[in-house]
Amino acid sequence: MSKWRDELDAINRKSQARLSKALPDIFPANVLTHAFARRFIPPMPRLAVDSYWRAHPVRAERLARGLATKSGAPVGWTWRVGSNPKAGLPATFRTPPAPYRERGFARGPGFCCVCGQPVYRFGWHADLWDAGPNKNAMWHAACVIAWQFWNAPSDQVNVLKRLQARRCAQSGRRLLRTAEVDHRIPLFEVWRTHRAAPWPALLAFWGLPNLQVINREVHVAKCAVEAAYRGNGALAGKSPQQS
Ligand SMILES: [Zn+2]
Repeated sequence: MSKWRDELDAINRKSQARLSKALPDIFPANVLTHAFARRFIPPMPRLAVDSYWRAHPVRAERLARGLATKSGAPVGWTWRVGSNPKAGLPATFRTPPAPYRERGFARGPGFCCVCGQPVYRFGWHADLWDAGPNKNAMWHAACVIAWQFWNAPSDQVNVLKRLQARRCAQSGRRLLRTAEVDHRIPLFEVWRTHRAAPWPALLAFWGLPNLQVINREVHVAKCAVEAAYRGNGALAGKSPQQS
C-alpha cells in the first residue's frame, strides 16, 4: 500500500513539474486548483482543462447553452433530421440539434461545432491570452462534455441524484440504486410539438432543465403512459423518417 502511495507521489511530482513548466503566464485559476487536487495530476494544460470540465458536467452543460445563445441560430436554419451523414444532420430526433455541425452552416476551423463560438487556447471559451481563435480546434473543451451529457445523460446519474438530494423527482421518495435518468418532456414530444422552437432554447430539452432522476418503477409507469400516447398519435413508435 505504501509502495503504491510512493509511486503515486513520484508520478504526481513529475506531472506537477511538467504542468508547471508548460503553463502559460495566464491560466484559469479554478482549472489549476482542480488539477493540483487530482489524484493523478494532469501533466499538460490541455489535459487539466479537460479534467476540469469532466469533473463539472453541469457547469459545462450550462456554459455550452450560454455560448450557443451568443451565436443564435444561423439564418435559414431549421431543425431537421436526415440519414445522409455527409450533410451532418442528426440521424434521429434523439440527438440534440446542432446547426454548426451541419455542413451548410459550419463556421469552419477555430469555431466550435456545438455552440458556434470561437475556440481559444486549450479549448477555452474566452481569449484570456489575446491570441485569437485556435484554427486547429473545432470544439470547446466544455462543449465536448456538454455534448456527451446531452447524448448520454444516464452517465451523469450520480451527479443528477446529488442535485435532487437523492429524492425521486416524481414520487418524492428516496431514490433507489436502480433509479433512472428521464427527460421530463420526452424527446419524441419535443420533436412533435416543439420542433419550431428557436435554437438554442431547444437545447434545454437535452440539458438540466429537462432532466430528472426517478425510481425505476415510476419510470416504467411513465414510459407506458407515453407509449400509449404515442400509439394514438402520428409517430406510433416510429422514427420521424418512417412516419
Ligand atoms: Zn462550444
